[in-house]
Amino acid sequence: METEPTRSVHRCAQCGDLAQLTAIVEEDPSQVNARDAENVTPLHWAAINGHMACCEFLLEHGALVNAAGGDLGATPLQWCARNGQVGLMHLLLERGADPAFEDKQGFNMLHLATHSSLILALVYVLQQEPFATPAGVDLPDRQGHTSLMWAAFQGDALSVDVLLKHGASVDTRDESGLTPLHWAAVRGSKLCIERIASYGADLHAVDHEGKTARDMAEELQTLPAYDSALYALGRDTHGHLVHRIIGPRTLRFLLFVLPFAWFGALFYGVPRLPWFLATPAFCAGVAAMHLAMGLYVLDWRIPNAMKKSPYFLSLLSLSLGWVFLMWTVEVAPNTRSYLVRHTLVGVLLSTVIGTLGWCATVSPGRCHTPASPAERQAEVNLLASRGMLTSMSYCMHCLARRPLRSKHCHLCNTCIPRHDHHCPWIANCVGLGNHRPFIVMVAAAEAGIPVYLSLVYQYFRDNLPSNVWVQHRDRFVVPWLFAAADFHGPLLCCSLWILLVDVWLLILLVMQLAQISRQLTTLEASNVGRYGFMGGRGDTNMTAQAGFIEQQTERMVAAGMRREDIHQQLHGCAHRRKRTLCGVCTSMGAALLSIVGLDLYTRGKGGQGLKRSRAAANPFDKGAVGNCLGMLSH
Ligand SMILES: [Zn+2]
Ligand SMILES: [Zn+2]
Repeated sequence: METEPTRSVHRCAQCGDLAQLTAIVEEDPSQVNARDAENVTPLHWAAINGHMACCEFLLEHGALVNAAGGDLGATPLQWCARNGQVGLMHLLLERGADPAFEDKQGFNMLHLATHSSLILALVYVLQQEPFATPAGVDLPDRQGHTSLMWAAFQGDALSVDVLLKHGASVDTRDESGLTPLHWAAVRGSKLCIERIASYGADLHAVDHEGKTARDMAEELQTLPAYDSALYALGRDTHGHLVHRIIGPRTLRFLLFVLPFAWFGALFYGVPRLPWFLATPAFCAGVAAMHLAMGLYVLDWRIPNAMKKSPYFLSLLSLSLGWVFLMWTVEVAPNTRSYLVRHTLVGVLLSTVIGTLGWCATVSPGRCHTPASPAERQAEVNLLASRGMLTSMSYCMHCLARRPLRSKHCHLCNTCIPRHDHHCPWIANCVGLGNHRPFIVMVAAAEAGIPVYLSLVYQYFRDNLPSNVWVQHRDRFVVPWLFAAADFHGPLLCCSLWILLVDVWLLILLVMQLAQISRQLTTLEASNVGRYGFMGGRGDTNMTAQAGFIEQQTERMVAAGMRREDIHQQLHGCAHRRKRTLCGVCTSMGAALLSIVGLDLYTRGKGGQGLKRSRAAANPFDKGAVGNCLGMLSH
């Protein structure tokens, strides 16, 4: 009779077959440390495949935790580091694995974690002795390469950042005399070059052949990345400081004064043009200002220069400023009898200005960051021991634990508790600390603008001379608009602009109230499927998602699907094809949404997110009334 073939102890460890592994080891305890044809122990196989229970069983039954195996003579701990398995690394270290062990290539656990490019595994390894000291983080391999050099060579800016924050030196040299900056230049990674140079790397350091990092970049045709990295740090290609004509203070001043003056010119100039030119001229004027600001005042070569500057705050301020000016100089003196409405405008306008100042200057809240490396070490080890060292609970930019519903804002460079969105119009994030004044600001503006506009209407109604009306009353369309433009063009122009702002604010207010009533932040509404606590996939970090997409792509390619269909299926959107008229309109619409800030609700399938969130479990939902009251009493 044919018997079922029994698996070897190595195969059981590889597959995570704990039942059969137990049977084999109980029958022959020496199997725990048996070597297979590749000179590998069962513990190696269980560790690299992430079978925690098998690892625990093997260790309890006498498996040698520091057994070197395979071609490279690596330990199970090193196999885990190579795969970025934090939970297993923690288990093996607890059971006495040697973190300083080096394989035949001279790679230690830190080099291997760096090679994995899995950032949280790297953060975890950096908290372990001997890597938790500046000398430990720079331990070289056989060729003298430090982990920082490896990360720079891989073009892995996140790893470079984390290593530098843990004290990695930018002055180390390998056996060819190359520094980390040379390796970053070889790779041509702008962000890596920028990070390393910002930590004071010597830009003129030469290797044993007398070449600087710039020379290597030139040779390997990565000079554009090198130059743009240095430019972002205010230096030219040779490392000399670039003299900028506009200093930061002058820039701030110009950002507020120029748009205010330019809008004044538009309000006073446009009504003088023939009627059919007025609207296009106004739109062209605003677009020209936007372009000129981006090109000449703000530095277009610096990424996100416009979003990081208070330019959009200046646009909102100038709109309020012009309304205030028109109201006090022109409207109020000529419509004195409407006292209640003037009082309302005064109160609401002051509220808007006050809350705008509050939102822009008050911190949206900050998450706690460890005060010392020891505190950070304790925090990371605690999270790792609970299996919670994931991107959902730990921020690799702040190197700190982050509360649920917080997010790291790359423009503010901090984690914001209960992050809603980064609002360029207040040049700040909207989070736990300033969400209420933000809502009050939008609501007050939304209430105040119609009252102000009704006063403008009364102004024209009460003051328009009859001869002006007579001139225009026979016009084919909207004669009152022509008459008003003739009588006081700038006031009409400014009022139409503020009407436009009002429509935008109304959409914003409706979206915000809808989200508050459903206990969602803008971020959650547009990413609801990603968060485990909202019923989504949860704890899906970037790397895991990238791995998922790669695997699925491979599978679909093998199945003969077209690349475009695969992208559509995996990302939920199609690649842009030919620039047809429709395509151009869509991209212009997207650019416009991005300028006014409403792309937050459409980007990342925000609308679908809202729809899906109805079905998803929201643990914070206390019903519409409870949610709104909660917001008020937070
Ligand atoms: Zn952060
Ligand atoms: Zn922000």
